[in-house]
Amino acid sequence: MEKHHLVIIGSGASGLTAAIYASRAQLEPVLFEGFLSGTVGGQLMTTTDVENFPGFPNGILGPELIDRMKQQAIRFGTKIIPEDVVQVDLKKYPFIIIGNKTRIETESLIVASGALANRLDVPGTRNGELWQKGVTACAVCDGAAPIFRNKDLFVIGGGDSAVEEAIFLTKYAKKVYLVHRRDVLRASKIMTQRAMNHPKISVLWNRILVRVEGEEIVERVILENTLTHQQEKINAGGVFFAIGHTPNVSFLDRQLKVTEQGYLWVSPGTTQTSVEGVFAAGDVQDSLYRQAITAAGSGCMAALEAIKWLAHQGITE
Ligand code: NAP
Repeated sequence: MEKHHLVIIGSGASGLTAAIYASRAQLEPVLFEGFLSGTVGGQLMTTTDVENFPGFPNGILGPELIDRMKQQAIRFGTKIIPEDVVQVDLKKYPFIIIGNKTRIETESLIVASGALANRLDVPGTRNGELWQKGVTACAVCDGAAPIFRNKDLFVIGGGDSAVEEAIFLTKYAKKVYLVHRRDVLRASKIMTQRAMNHPKISVLWNRILVRVEGEEIVERVILENTLTHQQEKINAGGVFFAIGHTPNVSFLDRQLKVTEQGYLWVSPGTTQTSVEGVFAAGDVQDSLYRQAITAAGSGCMAALEAIKWLAHQGITE
């Protein structure tokens, strides 16, 4: 079995930043970038303009930012493996990392596996019903599909993602309705203002989605007013969930401690997990900030901590 100083799991902003730092420190890290799980490149791959990453005054497309980070990591010697990690054994040392095809022993590990978009479990939206037939959890990935053109589209959620997706969908939709369960958006002020000022966006306050109907594709949504409990049936061309994310930790099989919200626990102010030599970076350990720049920052921290830890163990110089 191949043996390495450092394996990084995840190819989003955190994993790639960790790879840049670790490869510049000549650790020759191996990075599992994902494959079937649909997580290659992380959440920036499903974002359009990134306007808040320092250094890009005119913004940069999410996928382009990730591609640049990847090229930078490769330039310094990171080996990219296009596989999902399906299992790890952190009880043995060196740790064992098992991908779809590859099995690797590693002396240290950075988990940067990110988080995935949540879905609501309501009738009509499930797999085999209208999921991916007008119901999706990624407007940026799917919004340009012909079935959504010139239709009334419904985005569920009230955070920055919901607003961002609603604005994105206005390019194609007749009208976009933001369906929010409360009477105030969670989104930042600037995003809220953009939504409120947009002629094609209306916010439906205090509403929850109770059902989606349609023969082959989405045709109607049934919403319930949380105050009056009255239901309304509205013609719809698409439903887009934007209700937050769940950290990708299942492949760890509970070998690392998690927080109450299911994110990886790290010692405060560090990226050190509950197992020595294993570090966590990015959204898999961050329920609070979840920004590209904070993910990249924690990726840097994880690499520096791994480099120091390996040296402290006498494994590297
Ligand atoms: P979020 O901030 O956690 O918002 C999730 C939204 O979904 C909330 O409005 C929440 O309602 C709603 N929600 C959750 N569960 C629900 C349910 N079961 N039924 C109905 N509604 C439900 O998630 P996010 O919008 O994905 O943003 C995550 C982080 O990324 C945030 O820190 C955000 O600022 C950041 N972000 C930034 C940008 C940007 O700056 N351009 C873009 C996207 C994301 P409640 O409000 O009632 O809890």
